[in-house]
Amino acid sequence: MSTLTVAAKDVGSYELVVGMEVHAQVLTQSKMFCRCATDYQGAPPNTRTCPTCLALPGALPAINRAAVEATIRTGLALNCRINEIAVFARKNYTYPDLPKGYQVSQYELPLCEDGELEIDLEDGATKRVRIRRVHLEEDTGRSVHEGGYSLIDLNRAGVPLMEIVTEADIHSPEEAYAYLTRLRATLRALGVNSGDMEKGALRCEPNISVRTLAQKARGEFGTKVEVKNLNSFRAVRSSIAYELERQVNVIEAGGNVVQVNMGWDEDKQRTVLQRSKEDAHDYRYFPEPDLPPLRVSREEVLRLTAALPELPAAKRNRYEQRWGVRRIEANVLTSEMQVARFFEEAVAAYGEEEGKPQRLATWMTGELFRLLYADGEGQDLRQIATIRVQPAHFAALLKLIDDKVINPNTGKKVLETMYATGDAPQAIVAREGLAMVSDASVIDDAIAEIFTTHAAELMRYRDGEEKLFGFFMGQVMRATKGKADPAAAKARLAELIRQ
Ligand SMILES: [Zn+2]
Repeated sequence: MSTLTVAAKDVGSYELVVGMEVHAQVLTQSKMFCRCATDYQGAPPNTRTCPTCLALPGALPAINRAAVEATIRTGLALNCRINEIAVFARKNYTYPDLPKGYQVSQYELPLCEDGELEIDLEDGATKRVRIRRVHLEEDTGRSVHEGGYSLIDLNRAGVPLMEIVTEADIHSPEEAYAYLTRLRATLRALGVNSGDMEKGALRCEPNISVRTLAQKARGEFGTKVEVKNLNSFRAVRSSIAYELERQVNVIEAGGNVVQVNMGWDEDKQRTVLQRSKEDAHDYRYFPEPDLPPLRVSREEVLRLTAALPELPAAKRNRYEQRWGVRRIEANVLTSEMQVARFFEEAVAAYGEEEGKPQRLATWMTGELFRLLYADGEGQDLRQIATIRVQPAHFAALLKLIDDKVINPNTGKKVLETMYATGDAPQAIVAREGLAMVSDASVIDDAIAEIFTTHAAELMRYRDGEEKLFGFFMGQVMRATKGKADPAAAKARLAELIRQ
């Protein structure tokens, strides 16, 4: 971790202020202004190009309707106003991976403005983060540096990109993390973005500053530092925490925070200077003369509104209110569509009676996710769509436990076998002879034998060493190969051990 240390009281007299810019590649078949395919990942360089995205003279752009609709749906999901007229504008700057010498974006009149996204905080409270705007633009190409050469691949140039910008409403690293988590879940639920940060499909850039409480009272802000090229939400959270300490240290030492772009060094867990912003560009925005203003009819907006799916926050509320699932599990279960689908199919098979959905939620987020995390790709819960365990089998497993056919510990072992084989739990229990022993005589016989083998311990227990009860209970479970009904065995042991 970082070697920076700041006394808590110092940080406490400052307010952290973060605004978040997120670039999200829109999931469309073709690029923003031409018919080239967007499946550039892994494709040979410059094979997804045409005169338009290569910026050859005379080539004209045409607007991709699917990208516009995806952006409007995103704006609606983020409670934005959808502007009736949006204008594409040229953002002029020179960079090798920008063949036109400008990027087509939206400036004064974006598609969506003035929204908000509700996020959940760790203490159970909720908070609204205001969305300033969602606009549509085109991605740039990529520079590849190898063998002493810089090469250009324009396959990515012109891929539709949404920029989602918040107001400076985020005041802790945890809030930033919660915002990004909910935003990604929302984009994935809409099917407008893959959310894959490691592939560059979702890119986050926090603007981070601190201000004293006196500055806050005067409505002033500190100097912003922008952190670029973060490749995980965890890196976003860590970089914000680091910048908070660093900036407070600078100010406490009598210095000034300088406006710069930073990167994040994952190994050293610290931000590093990228370039100063002294040469900040004047982008000389002006309306794109090759594209007409984009008119969005109210009918179109109504049609898209009516077709929105149930969003993660609404789903979470439904799990809580209708099924009594605790918020902590309801949030996890609605964080990915695939997880929510598995859970809902399991509830349909298991039943909605009081307590049952919560029992499913506990087993899913506990035992099933433990197996999922240990398997292959790691932390990506979307893998649940491809595991061998069927939702109906998962529900059947809990029924076996409810009906006392197996005890919960055996249930965990059965689930492991289900995960490995895809077999139904009933078949596994029958095949491996795992059904629970609640036959009183079997338990009595086991206890009698244990008392004979461990006569010394029995005497010590009867002399008052009560903590030995756990030892005897363990022996009973072992003697019955873990299959004894624990409640029945415990009751019987308690009875017999006193005699
Ligand atoms: Zn093209």
